[in-house]
Amino acid sequence: MATHHTKMLIIGSGPAGFSAAIYGARALMEPIVVQGLQPGGQLTITTDVENYPGFKDVIQGPWLMEQMQAQAEHVGTRMMWDTIVSVEIDKGPPFRAIGDSGDEYIGDTLVIATGAQAKWLGAPGEQQLGGKGVSACATCDGFFYRGKKVAVIGGGNTAVEEALYLTNHSDDVTLIHRRDELRAEKILQERLFKSNKISTLWNKTVVSFEGDPADGGLTHLVLTDTVTGETSTLEVDGAFVAIGHAPATELFKGKLEMDDSGYLIVEPGTPKTAIPGVFACGDVMDHTYRQAVTAAGTGCMAALDAERFLATLEFAKQEAEAAE
Ligand SMILES: Cc1cc2nc3c(=O)[nH]c(=O)nc-3n(C[C@H](O)[C@H](O)[C@H](O)COP(=O)(O)OP(=O)(O)OC[C@H]3O[C@@H](n4cnc5c(N)ncnc54)[C@H](O)[C@@H]3O)c2cc1C
Repeated sequence: MATHHTKMLIIGSGPAGFSAAIYGARALMEPIVVQGLQPGGQLTITTDVENYPGFKDVIQGPWLMEQMQAQAEHVGTRMMWDTIVSVEIDKGPPFRAIGDSGDEYIGDTLVIATGAQAKWLGAPGEQQLGGKGVSACATCDGFFYRGKKVAVIGGGNTAVEEALYLTNHSDDVTLIHRRDELRAEKILQERLFKSNKISTLWNKTVVSFEGDPADGGLTHLVLTDTVTGETSTLEVDGAFVAIGHAPATELFKGKLEMDDSGYLIVEPGTPKTAIPGVFACGDVMDHTYRQAVTAAGTGCMAALDAERFLATLEFAKQEAEAAE
């Protein structure tokens, strides 16, 4: 079991963690990134990415994350193939984290970039057709369904927002909900019901996603009526599962403030948590935007704030020593 010390300990290797690492390394903080179970983060499970700035042509999510990792390593980041299983942050700085390997990580500052995972239905065909008609992000993938027939599955704010967003691209959007009323805010519901591009299927659950991943992708959904038990099909080109996200914040329960859905709460407009020296960036603190570029942006902010935090501590220490 080894102990690793760094000025900036980053938990998570998605766009937020890698961007924090690039800025941290260039500020000579010799960051360590603990990568977790999904090195590269959520973009490694998608294919086409068309909205990350800097690329005229469609790029692949896994490729983009390889580039970010290579850049972070090139400027001096140490990557660790480990998953953090516990943290001690109330006594810091420095902050302490223990990896699944048994290794100990000590950070003078801590950047939390553990992201979030979209919740899936777990229905047959859903995973096989992921990126081939099935998606969990309309902002990311809606553009690929211009002029096509799409469905959104869910009944909360996210589902209604996704359906409304998709009307920018499609005139034929079906919202499928397992109950006969929505949980979404009334104002969103009003906008949904006013749209002549959205129809609603009540009391329906998706039994399976059908189509050939190697030949055209999703073709239709098989549905069951929760009241009558009847089975039906719905032909669609794209289906967006919008039943929520789960932020990866289990480690921080009782240690950092969270909202009702488990997202970390930060000082508005900053990545600062209530513990000085602990910063949160990316999807783990952002249930609104959830994009690679916003995650990268807040990762940059976390690194800049971490550098300033350490500089202020160092200055105070020097002043105290000079006064002795
Ligand atoms: C299918 C799909 C398609 C998408 N398409 C697009 C798109 O086209 N454009 C776009 O901008 N966005 C897209 N997104 C959204 C985008 O991927 C996310 O907004 C972005 O990845 C969030 O970055 P993040 O760094 O905050 O977290 P994540 O990418 O979620 O990364 C979290 C990281 O934390 C690590 N981690 C978690 N727990 C631990 C732990 N205990 N110890 C160590 N490490 C840990 C994980 O291993 C992972 O590396 C898509 C998302 C999905 C799911």
